[in-house]
Amino acid sequence: MALTLTVDGDRWRSHLRQVADAEPGLVPVAKGNGYGFTLGRLARKTQWLGLDTLAVGTYEELPEVASRYDGDLLVLTPWRPFGAAAELDPGLARRVIHTVSRVDDLTDLLGRQPDARVVLERATSMLRHGMTARELWSTAEVVRANPKARVAGVALHLPLANGAHLSEVHRLMTEVVATELPLDTVWVSHLSAAELTALRSSYPDFTFRPRLGTDLWLGDRGALRVTATVLDVHEVERGDGFGYRHRTAPKAGHVLVVSGGTAHGIGLEAPLGEASLRGRAATLARGGLDAAGFVRSPFSIDGKQRLFAEPPHMQASMLFLPHGARVPGVGDEVDVRVRFTATSFDRIVVT
Ligand SMILES: *Cc1c(COP(=O)(O)O)cnc(C)c1O
Repeated sequence: MALTLTVDGDRWRSHLRQVADAEPGLVPVAKGNGYGFTLGRLARKTQWLGLDTLAVGTYEELPEVASRYDGDLLVLTPWRPFGAAAELDPGLARRVIHTVSRVDDLTDLLGRQPDARVVLERATSMLRHGMTARELWSTAEVVRANPKARVAGVALHLPLANGAHLSEVHRLMTEVVATELPLDTVWVSHLSAAELTALRSSYPDFTFRPRLGTDLWLGDRGALRVTATVLDVHEVERGDGFGYRHRTAPKAGHVLVVSGGTAHGIGLEAPLGEASLRGRAATLARGGLDAAGFVRSPFSIDGKQRLFAEPPHMQASMLFLPHGARVPGVGDEVDVRVRFTATSFDRIVVT
């Protein structure tokens, strides 16, 4: 009775191992819903891979991973003098590497924890967090005034740009070198293998550490299968009513109730059919189901994406199966296409 993620364990693990072997200095990222796998499972896998650093998104996520993985913990959200960052468990402080994106925060953090380990974030064209060149330059002075501070490197968070980052990174690296900060590591995201190779040969004195989430955990989709269970099947004639909104069936078929709803992150997809008015008129003329207001669902039966009979409920969804299609039975599994980063599964089965 569940929305289930089934993982082909051997295939998934061999993919993870292959990525780790191919990416020296790899830093796995475990954040949010753990890319569908849960944070705890990703922490255990990072332990199994034997990697020295795991990145989490927020300070709030640290307890989830800290007991399942024993290496260093890089927090990607920059440190601020409030909230969970300022209330860090002293027992974890030794393992945490803070990201610092403002000069004042560096001063403040080192005032509280003089031997803090910090990665200094330089703003990129993404313009999310990070310091300007001048601000980064002035951190060197703060570091000199705090001799116990441990600078673990500079962080660059780049937009998704399919291999178009090299000139930006070269420009940023020129600044990093000019700061004369005591650092030799650059933590990066979203660089292609070719870009990383080029940077490593241009800056042989620096270690480039790629932070990887999606391409690591979700990089081999063939190892993953998402299914829902058919919970009920009702035969309907044209004109029969059903659902919370008491809609009527536009033609004969079956209403299926399947597990998976808004609580799992199952949402409405884009409406079926052509967007143009002409296309719409043509479907209306054909008496298409989308003309009846039915919307495409992420559930598919026999390889075909099926329509919601009405918007998804909290834990289940109603689908409309037109007459003629094979009707699955109660207890059968149907495939579901999901966004892994926005889905919470009832069950995760690793085979
Ligand atoms: C989420 C995140 C990543 C990993 O992103 P993916 O696209 O999932 O690989 C890397 N760096 C930072 C700062 C992030 O927030």
